[in-house]
Amino acid sequence: MISKIIAEDLISKVKKAIGNVEKITIVSHVGPDGDALGSSLALWHYLMSIEKEPTIIVPTAFPNFLAWMPGADQVIIYENDKEKADLIFASSELIFALDFNTVSRMSNMADAVLESPAKRILIDHHLHPESFAKVLISYPEISSTSELIFRLICRIGDFSKINLACADCIYTGMMTDTGGFTYNSNNQEVYIIIAELIKLGVDKDDIYRKVYNTFSADRLRLMGFCLYKKMKIYPAYHAALITLSGKELYQFNYTNGDAEGIVNIPLSVLGVEFSVFMREDTDKIKISLRSQGTFPANKVAADLFNGGGHLNAAGGESYLTLSETIKKFEEALPYYRDFLEEGSLTPEGA
Ligand code: 5GP
Ligand code: MN
Repeated sequence: MISKIIAEDLISKVKKAIGNVEKITIVSHVGPDGDALGSSLALWHYLMSIEKEPTIIVPTAFPNFLAWMPGADQVIIYENDKEKADLIFASSELIFALDFNTVSRMSNMADAVLESPAKRILIDHHLHPESFAKVLISYPEISSTSELIFRLICRIGDFSKINLACADCIYTGMMTDTGGFTYNSNNQEVYIIIAELIKLGVDKDDIYRKVYNTFSADRLRLMGFCLYKKMKIYPAYHAALITLSGKELYQFNYTNGDAEGIVNIPLSVLGVEFSVFMREDTDKIKISLRSQGTFPANKVAADLFNGGGHLNAAGGESYLTLSETIKKFEEALPYYRDFLEEGSLTPEGA
């Protein structure tokens, strides 16, 4: 038995909203990750199983290592298909917004979503959601939006409608948002849910391989380059930084998703509690932050980089140059020393 996390009135509201409409659209955040796509597709499969025909629209493309997910070929990418997507938004009756908490995370798609006459339901696990939805299903203590979708479907009373495709998508989101169950994953109910998903036929080892063992040689070389040439350790602050300029990305034939996960690697260095990765994009610097223990990666993201996220996994953006962004980060590091775990502050550091 798993506990009832989602409030009863929210379950009734979702049930009623779904029952009343035909045109349902599911949206998620820019640069969709495993949980964004996993939760969207899981909800899509569920709605299909109850005879609805929803559409998923995401602002930008998802990485290739998620392309195997059942239903991924049906997802509309807003930046590639704007006219079609705008028409869908204009005629939508209900929009599910999944796995993000601020309008800005919808990027180029935000206006179309806000102008749509559809009622909006937000399902998410990030702190401090903005109020852009009529129904707010926000549970930051839950490790992934995909897990929330599982809980929602069960509470609607439709566990029997979760088919294998739906279960695969839920599992993928749960796995990717916890780094393969290596962080943010101590809630025992996560494993009760996984047991249920495996009973439905999920092959978790196969999903792991499909998501994590599908790198291109270029991607692996890029990782090697980052670790050999670009990783900087700040022993006094138990921190690490990796940066990649546009030129370096070009050298390694960078494609969407190639830098995913690089930010996590320095955390495997003994003593490193905080790791930051900066990637030069065409118009901005995209920043990923990861921490372990109680160090608040989301606070640094919000303070310095206009971003946010979870305690141990956050992100943000900078509109300075790459070297200015690095300088800003390095100058700020001493201010976060007090957040490091007690007892970890040895003078020699990592
Ligand atoms: P990633 O480093 O994988 O891009 O993002 C990790 C987490 O940080 C995401 O799940 C999301 O919660 C948060 N995040 C990433 N980028 C941004 C951003 O630009 N703004 C905010 N508010 N959160 C972000
Ligand atoms: Mn998520």
